[in-house]
Amino acid sequence: MFCYQCEQTFEGKGCTKYGVCGKDPTTAALQDLLIHATKGIAAFAHRARQLGARDREIDVFVVEALFSAVTNVNFDPQRLKELLMRAAKVRDKAKTLYEDAAQAGGKTPERLPGPAGWTPADSLDGLLEQGISVSIADRRERLGDDIAGLQELLTYGLKGAAAYADHAQILGVEDETVWAFFHEALDFLASEPTDVDALVAMCMKCGEVNLKVMELLDAANTGAYGSPVPTSVRVEPVKGKAIVVSGHDLKDLEELLKQTQGKGINVYTHGEMLPAHGYPQLKKYSHLVGNYGGAWQDQQKEFAAFPGAILMTTNCIQKPGDSYKDRIFTSGLVAWPGVTHITDRDFSPVIRAALAADGFPDDGPDKTITVGFGHDAVLGVAGKVVEAVKSGAIRHFFLIGGCDGAKSGRNYYTELATAVPKDCVILTLACGKYRFNKLDFGDINGIPRLLDIGQCNDAYSAIQIALALANAFDTDVNSLPLSFILSWYEQKAVVILLTLLHLGIQNIRLGPSLPAFVTPNVLNLLVEKFNIAPITTAGEDLKAILG
Ligand code: SF4
Ligand code: SF4
Repeated sequence: MFCYQCEQTFEGKGCTKYGVCGKDPTTAALQDLLIHATKGIAAFAHRARQLGARDREIDVFVVEALFSAVTNVNFDPQRLKELLMRAAKVRDKAKTLYEDAAQAGGKTPERLPGPAGWTPADSLDGLLEQGISVSIADRRERLGDDIAGLQELLTYGLKGAAAYADHAQILGVEDETVWAFFHEALDFLASEPTDVDALVAMCMKCGEVNLKVMELLDAANTGAYGSPVPTSVRVEPVKGKAIVVSGHDLKDLEELLKQTQGKGINVYTHGEMLPAHGYPQLKKYSHLVGNYGGAWQDQQKEFAAFPGAILMTTNCIQKPGDSYKDRIFTSGLVAWPGVTHITDRDFSPVIRAALAADGFPDDGPDKTITVGFGHDAVLGVAGKVVEAVKSGAIRHFFLIGGCDGAKSGRNYYTELATAVPKDCVILTLACGKYRFNKLDFGDINGIPRLLDIGQCNDAYSAIQIALALANAFDTDVNSLPLSFILSWYEQKAVVILLTLLHLGIQNIRLGPSLPAFVTPNVLNLLVEKFNIAPITTAGEDLKAILG
């Protein structure tokens, strides 16, 4: 196997024997083959669309397949095999769609080479061999590290955008131009492009389209659950039976809340589900009692100690420990071999497991944090914020956010947040915030110094806030007293970075380490164009930013 798509990749170079995340070589090969299959589907679907023919099943499947290959989503070879078999059927459907559209238009359909001609092997071993033959390692050898790395940058951007597009479509919000782009970009990759400028341009387009995707998801979330409002969230247990919900899928949480109403079960959020407390249509459930634990990488310890049932709605799942393997469940695209998977949002097995478990024997101490500073909440006090900047009460804004992970270098983000001077405001989002979100940062003239904007996809809110500030000061985002200090872990963070670069945001600091797929030559290019820089130390970076 060879995989270097996430930040925890082995020795910062690539996982070759086994994934640091727990991905085994079989799963890795099947995921590589699934990406290969999406390119074949897209080759037909892209051409069909140009002739005016499209099919929603094909659109949604491509996005689900890409999302399934994101880090920490699907570790189950059996489920991946099923996805591959479906991919072949969807590809045949796309082929027919294209050929029929061509014939109807009096054109001769192109004969498409490469992934479009893939025929799935009929056994797991055969699929495994096919997966190995389309691995990234092979492309690195044939095309060199720079080109293969740029191709992967685009692939990972597409995976990240697919995750957001999938969440939005689950809530009924989608857009034709977005579906079209996934097919256009995958078709581009199917041709094994080697032109650096064309690859960079497609990566920037991916960032541009992802801005639209995040806008769709924002509309989907706020349309379904209302605009987030600042909300105090309990971070200590409440006596009684319990279910903890992790991941990013708000619809799953909503359905679980409906199904647990009146059953004497308290529901807790974990990880990226924390921002759910800010949405009016979710916070109205009184048995959504608080948040349990921290970011995803702490789950093995925290879930073992949790006296109830656990639901993983999306990434990031880790290998379940024996002590909780029987009371953890997956839903949506997440899968782990041997873990019960919930289909059709029937959470009865989760409820039964919660009722069978001990629950919390006592209430914990009263401790809360505040979430819910989406763009509407922050822009609602924009006048106050602008005034505070003009009067000098607020000197600088720091956006410190992104994914969290297990590496010790991530202490940087805690050190930085705590060292930020008292006349500066911190905007944060995604699970990286768990490094500092339980600390008391106080306020500036009533404006909290720590504003939790939400999940990683709520980077859209951060962008809207930045654009509104730029507007208020009649300048551009790069001229604002605002610095972006991002932590990345997996492919959703990759696509958010592409979106920020597409917007022309300069001087982003990225850590805890740079992606292994960004070669020195590609890094030079990013430094030249965007002045992107790796993080150094909290002290040095603060000095460089504030002078
Ligand atoms: S997803 Fe990350 S940890 Fe897992 S195999 Fe790939 S690079 Fe390694
Ligand atoms: S923000 Fe990234 S690392 Fe954190 S839970 Fe979400 S996908 Fe995983």
